[in-house]
Amino acid sequence: MSDPSRAASYTTIRERLLTIHGITIGTTIAIILTVSLVSSFAIGLSSMVESTRLRAKVLAESAIAPLVFENTVAAQELLQPLAKLPQVRRATLYTATHAVFAHFEVPGQVLQPQPATDVGESLGLNHLQVVEPIVFANDRVGSVHLGVSLNGLYWQTFLQLIAALAAALLATGIARYLVKRLNTSILKPLTSLEQVMEQVSKNDDYGLRAPPSKIKEIHGLGQGFNQMLDQIQMRDSMLASRREVLEQQVAERTADLRQAKEAAEAASAAKSNFLATMSHEIRTPMSGVLGMNELLLASPMTPEQSEYARAIQTSGRHLLQVINDILDFSKIESGSIHLEAEPMDLYAHVDSALALLLPSARHKGLALVCECTPRQAPCRVLGDAFRLRQILTNLVGNAIKFTAQGEVSVRVRLADGPGQDIGVQIVVADTGIGIPEEAFERIFDQFSQVDESTTRQFGGTGLGLAICRRLVARMGGQIQVASTLGQGAQFRVDVRLPRAPTTAEAATAEGATRSDTRQRLPTALYPLPVRVLLVEDNVLNQRLAVLMLHKFGVQVHTADHGQEAVDRMAQDEYDLVLMDCDMPVMDGYEATARIRALPQGRGLGVPILALTGNAMQGDDKKCLAAGMNGFLAKPFDMAQLHAALVRLLPAALGPVAAD
Ligand code: ADP
Repeated sequence: MSDPSRAASYTTIRERLLTIHGITIGTTIAIILTVSLVSSFAIGLSSMVESTRLRAKVLAESAIAPLVFENTVAAQELLQPLAKLPQVRRATLYTATHAVFAHFEVPGQVLQPQPATDVGESLGLNHLQVVEPIVFANDRVGSVHLGVSLNGLYWQTFLQLIAALAAALLATGIARYLVKRLNTSILKPLTSLEQVMEQVSKNDDYGLRAPPSKIKEIHGLGQGFNQMLDQIQMRDSMLASRREVLEQQVAERTADLRQAKEAAEAASAAKSNFLATMSHEIRTPMSGVLGMNELLLASPMTPEQSEYARAIQTSGRHLLQVINDILDFSKIESGSIHLEAEPMDLYAHVDSALALLLPSARHKGLALVCECTPRQAPCRVLGDAFRLRQILTNLVGNAIKFTAQGEVSVRVRLADGPGQDIGVQIVVADTGIGIPEEAFERIFDQFSQVDESTTRQFGGTGLGLAICRRLVARMGGQIQVASTLGQGAQFRVDVRLPRAPTTAEAATAEGATRSDTRQRLPTALYPLPVRVLLVEDNVLNQRLAVLMLHKFGVQVHTADHGQEAVDRMAQDEYDLVLMDCDMPVMDGYEATARIRALPQGRGLGVPILALTGNAMQGDDKKCLAAGMNGFLAKPFDMAQLHAALVRLLPAALGPVAAD
C-alpha cells in the first residue's frame, strides 16, 4: 500500500541524477579552480622574486662605480629608470656602512626599508623586498635594496579567478545541458518501462511488453519484466484451462449429484408411499379385528369366551403398537418425519400424557409422581405435541414396565434459554430392575434390548428408545441414561423449545390442544339420537362402524364410495357424515368438496369426520384442508368414535356430558 505522505518525499531519478551531476561537476570545478589559482599565484610569485633579485643584481653591478667614486648623482640616475616600472615601489643604495647613498621611492609608500645587513628576500602581505650586496674586489662596498608591490600579482590572480569562474560557469552550464540530454536518453526507456508496468497493473493487460533499450541494465530490467509477464500469461492460460476442466468436472459432478438426489428422492418418495400404503393396509384390517372384537366383548359370552376375546384385544393392541413403532421408526429413518411447531401448554400436556399411563401404573401398584419446577402454569411453548407425548409415553411406559414395586417419577424443569427459548429438562426415574452400564449406549439402537431374557419376560421390540433418541435429536436436544443395576434407571431428556407467542391465536391453538386431550379421555357412551351417513368401501369396516354407531343409538345410512355419498347428500339430510378417505369411484376428499358445493348450500353446515387408515403425518391436515371438520385414525374404538361424534355434534350432547 502506498502511503501518500511518504510518496510526497519521493524524488525522481531525473532529480537525483541532476543533483549527483551538479555535486560532481561543482566539486571538480572547485578543485580545478583552486589548484590552478594557487599554482598560478605561486608561479607568478616565484617569477616575481626571481626577476626582482635579477634586477637587484644588475643594479648592484651598475652601482659599484658610483659607490667607489662616491658619485651620488650617477647613483641617483641609476635608480631613475626604476620609477617607470609600476611594481617597483622603492629602491635604495646603501654604502658599506649602511648609510643611504641613493634612494628612490614611489610617494605614499609605507614600506619599511629592510635593514641593509639582511641580504636575501623577505615576503610581506603586499610587498616583496630583496637586498643584494654590492661587491668590488671581493669587498662589500654597499648594498642594493629593492621593494616591489605584490598588487600586480594579486590583480592578475584576481583576473584569472574571474576568467576561471566564467569558464567554470560556462562549463557547468554546458555540462548540465549535456547531462540533461544524456539523462533523457537513460530515463526515457525507464519511463516507458514504468508506463508499461502501470498499464499492466491497472488494466490487467498481460499482453503488453516493455520495449527494448540500448542501455544494457535497462534492457535487462525490461527483459526480466517481460519474462515475468510471459510467465504470468502462461500461468493465467494454464489456470483458465484448469478452471475450464474444473468447471466441467463440477458440472458433471453436479449432474451426477442431481441424478443421485433425484434417485434418492424418488426412492424416498417410494418408501414414503410404501409406508403410507402399509400403514393404510395394516390399519384397515386391524380396525376390523379390534372393532369387531370390542363388539364381541360387549356381547354376552361365557367366561371362557370372554377371556379369549380379551386376549385377542390385548394381543391386537400390542400388535398395533408394534406396527406403529416400526412405521414410525421407518418414517424417522427415511427423513419423512416433519416436526410441528404448535403452541401448547407443556405442563398440561405432560399431565394429560401421564393420565393415560396412570391406570397401568396403578394396575402394577406403582406410584406415578409428577413434579414441575417452577410450578407456574401455564408454560406455553412451541413444539410438536404429538411427538413430545410419544417420547414421554415411551419413557414412562418403559419405567412402569421394568418396575415391579416403588414409584415412577417424572420431573419437568424449565430454565430460561437464550432469546425466546426455554430449556426443558424431563427426567423419568423409576425404582425398577435398572440397566447395566455396558448397555447404556446399546439400548438406544434399534431392535436392541439389554438381553434376550428382557424380550421373554417383558416383551417389546427394542424400538421405543431408538425412536425417542432420534426424535429428541430432531428437536435439537439429547437423551441420556443413568442407572444402578437393581436400583432403577433415570432417563433425562434436554430440549430447547421456543416460547409460544401470547396472542389470541396462541390461546385458540392451546384451546384446540386442550380439546384434543379431552377427546382422548374416556367419555361415557350415552345415546346420540342423530342421523349419520357412513361412507366406507370396506365391507367389514362398514359393518363394524354401523354396529358401533347402533350401540350409540345413531341412525345410520351407508354409502360405498364418494359419488354415492354426494348423491345421498343431495337427496337427504344428515346430522353428520363419516367419510373414509381412500375409496374407489370417488375418494373422500373430492366427495367432501362436492358435498360442500351442493346447490342451495345443502352440504355446507354438515360436519364431516374423516375416518382413515392413513395415519401418516400430514394426513389430518389434508383432511381439514379438503373441508372436513375432524379426523379419526383407524383403528378406533367405540369410546374414540363416540368422543369424536360428541365433539362435532355439541347439540346432540346429553346433560351428563355437558362439562
Ligand atoms: P422395548 O421396551 O420395546 O424393548 P426400548 O427401546 O424402549 O424397547 O428399550 C430398550 C431396552 O432398554 C429394553 O428392552 C430394556 O432392556 C431397556 N430399558 C428401557 N427402559 C428401561 C427401564 N426404565 N428400566 C430398565 N430397563 C430399561
